Amino acid sequence: MAIIEVKNLAKQYPLPDNKSKSFFAVDGISLAIEAGEIFGILGPNGAGKTTTLEMLEGLVDIDGGTAFIDGIDVSKEPYKVKEIIGVQLQANEYFDNLSLLELLTLFAALYSREIDAEDLLDKVNLLEKAKAKPGNLSGGQKQRFSIACALVNNPKVLFLDEPTTGLDPQAKRNLWDLVLELNKSGMTIVLTTHNMEEAEILCQRIAIMDHGKVVAEDTPQNLILQHAAEPPTAPLHGNIEDVFLALTGHGLRD
Ligand code: ADP
Repeated sequence: MAIIEVKNLAKQYPLPDNKSKSFFAVDGISLAIEAGEIFGILGPNGAGKTTTLEMLEGLVDIDGGTAFIDGIDVSKEPYKVKEIIGVQLQANEYFDNLSLLELLTLFAALYSREIDAEDLLDKVNLLEKAKAKPGNLSGGQKQRFSIACALVNNPKVLFLDEPTTGLDPQAKRNLWDLVLELNKSGMTIVLTTHNMEEAEILCQRIAIMDHGKVVAEDTPQNLILQHAAEPPTAPLHGNIEDVFLALTGHGLRD
């Protein structure tokens, strides 16, 4: 059953060089994301990935189309949606005079939830940092802590916006393990990335976005079989970057 249903979703922003005119940052996309899957939105910078997530999270207004999460209309009941989603943003700022344990307890209180903050820190492998301040964490630890913050309301759906951007390979792998672990417990996870390897390893299905549109949506294996340029000599030939090139004519980092 689809836990997220998006139909013709659109967002307009003013053109950077002519504010009296606008363009579609998200241009009428439709998605059905199943409960319990890890779904990736892949695309180069400016494709509209973050804007899509921000609309689903109720952080920016929806200009066109509809989005339902677990049957709740995001535009009509944004507060109800916020109770069942967890949001990890690209960059987080915390009050740096509080420890990780104190911050999690504070966030839970904001949701009127009772949590076992130590248990949550353990889940993201940060228990030994319980008394540390966020400013003293490494990049990977900060990302894992921001996921812990997104989990305080025990969400059904977790949104991760480029969770591994800027992380070293080991920190990236630790974060992938955490995402897979959370998903094993039944959590639906929607993430954006421009890292092909990440999408292939983590996601059961991927939507590829370019210029505000979804240009393809399938399992990584099917996308590779259908779109990677050369005929397969092995069961899986090429990678998601080949798929992206075949569909858009330019690379993910262009
Ligand atoms: P991505 O996450 O794929 O990199 P974004 O969703 O951040 O893409 O951006 C899509 C487009 O919308 C870009 O051209 C970006 O500059 C523009 N955009 C995003 N947010 C705003 C905003 N608040 N105001 C104006 N333009 C924006």
